Amino acid sequence: AEPALRVRDLVTEFRGRRGNVRAVDGTSFTVPRGGVLAVIGESGSGKSAMLRSIIGINPPSTLITGEISVGGRDLQTMSPRDRRKARGSDVSMVFQDPLTALDPVYTIEKQLVEAIRKHHEGLDRSQARRRALELLELVQIPSAAARLKAYPSELSGGMRQRVVIAMAIAGRPTVLLADEPTTALDVTVQARMMRLFRQIQREIDMGLVIVTHDLGVAAELADEVAVMYAGRFVEHGSAMQVLTAPSHPYTEGLIEANVRAGQDRRPNAIQGAPPSLDQLPPGCSFAPRCGYAVGACWESRPTAHQVEDDHWSSCLLVPGESRLAS
Ligand code: SF4
Ligand code: MG
Repeated sequence: AEPALRVRDLVTEFRGRRGNVRAVDGTSFTVPRGGVLAVIGESGSGKSAMLRSIIGINPPSTLITGEISVGGRDLQTMSPRDRRKARGSDVSMVFQDPLTALDPVYTIEKQLVEAIRKHHEGLDRSQARRRALELLELVQIPSAAARLKAYPSELSGGMRQRVVIAMAIAGRPTVLLADEPTTALDVTVQARMMRLFRQIQREIDMGLVIVTHDLGVAAELADEVAVMYAGRFVEHGSAMQVLTAPSHPYTEGLIEANVRAGQDRRPNAIQGAPPSLDQLPPGCSFAPRCGYAVGACWESRPTAHQVEDDHWSSCLLVPGESRLAS
């Protein structure tokens, strides 16, 4: 069967005053139906730009090359009109802040019905209303019928995010993209939201790509994890392998930072900051922050090599050998 999402050599460049900035630099991955890919990494690593490229909402001046196929349909070769139609039905997206996705002046019902009718033109109002109710039940909103009449401001943050998810899946997308969908919520609500994502995903049998800072979220939800740094996947593999036996020093650093943040609630951090994308160092982008760097790391950009089955890393050094020896 065709995968829910196949991305090959995706490059995203924004036009800047000092020339083009490459936010995504050749990422490739596949997400099967029912599969979950978590993309982790610090802010500014290109995660959001990648999702926005896949759904097609970057500024018009953005240069995007590579293949983006959803259920076997190549979005890149579609007309702008077909591409717009694919949004919501082939590929849909949940954003970080539920408030910006909902219109404060309309009821939940009006917004949901509109989203539903956009994808199911044959439905009349009462059928669409019934479908809206089903969607609210699917995202486990209690007293769904009463909530249909509510305005966004009358719902809690967690409930609003559930409504946003309901709207995102109104067109039964083949793949759902979620950009830090729990960051704005408190911790107990986050855990429930994760379970909800899993349940919905099983129900609809879609692929899910979730961008997150939270490795706990990645561990709980994902089948595969990709670690993004300076526009590239520096490590990619099964969630188990990447999160428990990381191969790339950057992944190691992220995991240590996450453990520390969990212990004393101090944010991050790996020393230093990600490089500015228009001033990448020669060689490995992580070299300026890497405790294992050797001379060769500064000379040529490492490409991904297979560490074990279904596990790739783009660190020059083989873990367990040179790194321990250095
Ligand atoms: Fe560190 Fe070198 Fe590996 Fe880059 S290639 S992560 S600098 S050891
Ligand atoms: Mg982001």
